[in-house]
Amino acid sequence: HGASLEKYQSELNSAQFEAVTTTDGALLVVAGAGTGKTKTLTYRVGYLIESGVPASDILLLTFTRRAAQEMLARAAAICDSRCSQIQGGTFHAFAHKLLRLHASQIGLAENFTVLDQADAEETLDIVRTALGFNKKEKRFPKKRTLATVISTSRNKQLPIELVVEAQYPHFLSFAEEIEFLAKKYREYKRANALLDFDDLLTELRDLFLNFPELGHQISSSLRYVMVDEYQDTNLVQAELVAHFSAVHKNVMAVGDDAQSIYAFRGANYRNILDFPNQFPECKLIKLEENYRSTPEILSLTNFVINRAKEKFTKTLFSRKPEGELPAIVSAPDERFQTRFIAQRILELREEGVPLREIAVLMRNGRDSYALELELRKRNIPFVKFGGQKVVEAAHIKDFLAYLKLIYNPRDVISWNRVLQLLEGVGPKTAKQVIEWVKDSGSPYEIGGVKMSAKYAASLKNLGDLLGSLSSGKKSLGETAAAVMNYYLPLMHEKYYEDFPKREKDLENFLNIIANYQNLETLLAELALDPIELTAIETEPAKPDEQPMTLSTIHSAKGLEWRTVFLINMLDGVLPSKYAVDDAASLDEELRLLYVAMTRAKSLLYVCYPIVCTQRGFEDYMSNPSRFLQKLPDALYERILLVQEKRKSPPQLSGKAKPQLQKKASGGKNENFNDDNLPF
Ligand code: ATP
Ligand code: MG
Repeated sequence: HGASLEKYQSELNSAQFEAVTTTDGALLVVAGAGTGKTKTLTYRVGYLIESGVPASDILLLTFTRRAAQEMLARAAAICDSRCSQIQGGTFHAFAHKLLRLHASQIGLAENFTVLDQADAEETLDIVRTALGFNKKEKRFPKKRTLATVISTSRNKQLPIELVVEAQYPHFLSFAEEIEFLAKKYREYKRANALLDFDDLLTELRDLFLNFPELGHQISSSLRYVMVDEYQDTNLVQAELVAHFSAVHKNVMAVGDDAQSIYAFRGANYRNILDFPNQFPECKLIKLEENYRSTPEILSLTNFVINRAKEKFTKTLFSRKPEGELPAIVSAPDERFQTRFIAQRILELREEGVPLREIAVLMRNGRDSYALELELRKRNIPFVKFGGQKVVEAAHIKDFLAYLKLIYNPRDVISWNRVLQLLEGVGPKTAKQVIEWVKDSGSPYEIGGVKMSAKYAASLKNLGDLLGSLSSGKKSLGETAAAVMNYYLPLMHEKYYEDFPKREKDLENFLNIIANYQNLETLLAELALDPIELTAIETEPAKPDEQPMTLSTIHSAKGLEWRTVFLINMLDGVLPSKYAVDDAASLDEELRLLYVAMTRAKSLLYVCYPIVCTQRGFEDYMSNPSRFLQKLPDALYERILLVQEKRKSPPQLSGKAKPQLQKKASGGKNENFNDDNLPF
């Protein structure tokens, strides 16, 4: 071995070291949060490369593009820049890459378009309408429900009927129609060179099943396969891992069943426990020491996860020095909660905690709207992950539709979108144009469609523009600029209320586009792992200060911060009100809370407002999350924010500072005691 072992021995504990140096055969690391699973994977990459394995023989699958980049950067710090040759990223992105590469061999259209969630729903809508299933009086399921049912059926590999029965029993009488719709949807996608997220995985799986030689060739090139966050894989992904590693059988999976939070995408926390059945020779390594959090934070998180119906056997311990008790913060209302967090952040910054070591985590992307305003007001820079995606904004969608058509002229959804922007083109003309596009050999020559002379010119214009840009002679930057030129006047018309802000978004977006080599990778990445809107919106207050993080819990997976605030930890939020009727869903919500709490290294604040405001005007009393009730007093400290004057409503502006009233836990306090709450 070329690798110097001392470095690995000194920086890893013995179980981690064993996992890093066990390079051949199947290996499973099941371990709790913060035990160094990801670190172990990263070091293993470094170790393999230092041992002379070409980086391009290594496949590293992670959950987000961000996680993949982070790991590669860390691995590069251990060995060197050879790491950039490593294959991998997310399952979907890697599948996309392979399918593109081998499209012609397996009978896929070369320039297929990836449908993101919204596009998939639109497509289902088109098919449903064509089948005449959308009659209102029949109360046929909506497109989102249909998308969920079809996707669940595929990911869990269950018949549609069973899925409907389990999730939407009141739609059971439609099961046959939904089944038929699913079939037509499949055909429609085929005919129009469209692939949704699930297709990316199943098409690749089918490649392995139907083209064994090709499959063999692919898996021969992947000598070492490694997967992080294995607990969130679904059945198809587990099958893919087996196919990838079929030739060399060197496969390592790491994960934590207690952190499985993607059941809604067909993941099952039991998959990871099934890994040894898939790979019978598999070696199992456990990690038990947590290096991330203080003993205080761990005691609370251990207690919380033990509330799950399904028991997770791992108990974590930490040798980190004692720290502060986690705090449960009860605020009279959302304004107090917001101000408390903002104030605490400023204090921490004063104490020398860098902003990038602070995060506010939430169940839903919208939970932080008030806080975002407050942070802006106080000039605290932040990035937000898991909120609205760039590609979900209407004007960006418009803009992208042109680019998609330049890439794939058969993309009906995009045609629909751009045609709607033209004056004088109604649904009827749009339909005609789309028919024309489908039938004609030269889909950009839409000027030939019959319509009044007054508007025919604009149609021809559009076709000419797209046609000329599709020749591939222009760079991506030039193409985007040309589209921008064309679209801006139309955007001013459509969004005359707030076009300046949107124009700024588009300019930002052009800057993002500048980082991409070509249209194909741009479109694929945007569909597969979209960039968050606020991530490009905020500007740093001080030039060299890195921002703090706002994130949904799902997007915070695998990450860590010195101080973590959990916001809006209310019953109905976490657990979500949609989960409270079902034990399995409740457990999933509990695991989500566990993921959230285990992100904290030394300070954890769990916050909730007692009075909430709905739709901006209607106040109602709420309950703290049931997961936080009746906790042993020794595990936390309570922070009670109280109003200065009891009877008046909290002041809306001015210097009114929420008063801090710290109480040792266990003290009787009327605001929190469950029994005194009105519900
Ligand atoms: P999660 O389940 O949240 O993904 P994880 O098991 O992947 O957690 P890591 O993120 O790899 O854990 O590690 C958590 C923290 O502990 C990191 O800061 C890491 O550098 C540190 N750490 C891990 N192992 C060791 C070790 N042997 N010595 C010192 N620090 C370690
Ligand atoms: Mg990890």
